Amino acid sequence: MDNLLNLTGIQIAEDIKNGKLSETKAYSFFKERIKKNTNLNAFVETYDVPVEAGGNSSLKGVPIAIKDNICIKGKRITCASKILSSHISAYDATVIKRLKDAGLKIIGTTNMDEFAFGSSTENSCYGPAKNPWDIQRVPGGSSGGSAAAVAARLIPFALGSDTGGSIRQPASFCGIVGFKPSYGRVSRYGLIAFGSSLDQIGPLTTNFVDCAHLLNIICGFDEHDSTSAPIEKKDFSKSLVEDIKGLKVGMPRQYFAKGIDEEIKSAILEVGRILKEKGATIIDIDLPHTEYAVATYYIIGSSEASSNLQRFDGIKYGLREPASGLLDVYKKTRGVGFGDESKRRIFLGTYSLSSGYYDAYYVRALKVRKLIKKDFDEAFKKVDVILTPTSPTPAFKMGEKSTDPLSMYLSDIYTISVNLAGLPAVSFPCGSTKNNLPIGAQLIAKDFDEETLIRAGYSYQCVTDYHKRIPDLK
Ligand code: GLN
Repeated sequence: MDNLLNLTGIQIAEDIKNGKLSETKAYSFFKERIKKNTNLNAFVETYDVPVEAGGNSSLKGVPIAIKDNICIKGKRITCASKILSSHISAYDATVIKRLKDAGLKIIGTTNMDEFAFGSSTENSCYGPAKNPWDIQRVPGGSSGGSAAAVAARLIPFALGSDTGGSIRQPASFCGIVGFKPSYGRVSRYGLIAFGSSLDQIGPLTTNFVDCAHLLNIICGFDEHDSTSAPIEKKDFSKSLVEDIKGLKVGMPRQYFAKGIDEEIKSAILEVGRILKEKGATIIDIDLPHTEYAVATYYIIGSSEASSNLQRFDGIKYGLREPASGLLDVYKKTRGVGFGDESKRRIFLGTYSLSSGYYDAYYVRALKVRKLIKKDFDEAFKKVDVILTPTSPTPAFKMGEKSTDPLSMYLSDIYTISVNLAGLPAVSFPCGSTKNNLPIGAQLIAKDFDEETLIRAGYSYQCVTDYHKRIPDLK
């Protein structure tokens, strides 16, 4: 059965369809593998029997893991927060309903930074998840549990959420494919909100084929989400073609300037070279407002987070601390229930939204957000996709940045602008450092042009084998 490790999700589905493998066997294989590798702390919970799922699709019968912030009816969904540690979801997120209707087998929930605040999965009430390539290092965050699990082949694929890079950055740290769809492409109904104007759910897979098939299942208009885009459903598997002749690839000067690790820089330049060899043209471009992205994001993201987190008040959901009177319930429950990073975001957001500072911070950040979007609009007049590193460094050591929030925030520098602009982007494995740590490259496309990302990424994957590398584990 060891060969299941080298199979992609779609190959497992084919074996199931042909009767070579039963759904139960596939499920117990991965369940067993999760059990053997609990030292990665990638999962919050696993289910002895999969969540009931009836339908059919190209991925029917394949097990999948879900980040602990996406609601599954009747299951404990906690956002890795003490304040929700006893919370049972009353309904299915739209993506969960779609997975069930597609016959996928939900195996459990994955570890994450509390409420998706973080870049390392160290801010979890369950303790940090570990990087399977080096367990002294972080898997990235906030979807670090999903990324570690997929990289270690504890599961063929998983869902994560991305507000400022939380699918792409852990995908790059763990050597897998992490896809953030265009804002509005995937319903946010049932995703516990962090920054409502930034959040998107997306797949973490080992390869682009599984990525396209999973996107097919989770994408599409949903009347339960007022920001869901009323656009036609696409068949992304049609973009799995090895052909990028004439593709115009932009490389932004600002992303290769200061602060980037040399090994990463040369790996990305090599991706450019390979794309060129396959017929693409490489063009230098400018995204002049890049340097303001991190500051802008932390104002807007924290403002939205502070507002979204108001609902966790000790009355409506989860934890309630013993207290005397209403105000005391709020104070005690939120004081005990939220971790440090969540409190930091609530302070930052509440401050930016307060009447005295609203114009100076929040409104100003909205204006800069527009400029960042305009940079991309200009760039996409000249190019079809933009190639960048996903992160300025490979996976860092546990504890290395946890006492210095600013340096942690800077690790999102290449991913954050994409969320501010609402664009689709993907991180995929493109090399490893001399310490054998994965390196990720990012491709960004125009609004709702996921197809070009899949075509370009798949074309790259056809001539490389970084996506086949598996860390040594039990
Ligand atoms: N690391 C970023 C943050 O802490 C992004 C998180 C995310 O995408 N959820 O806000």
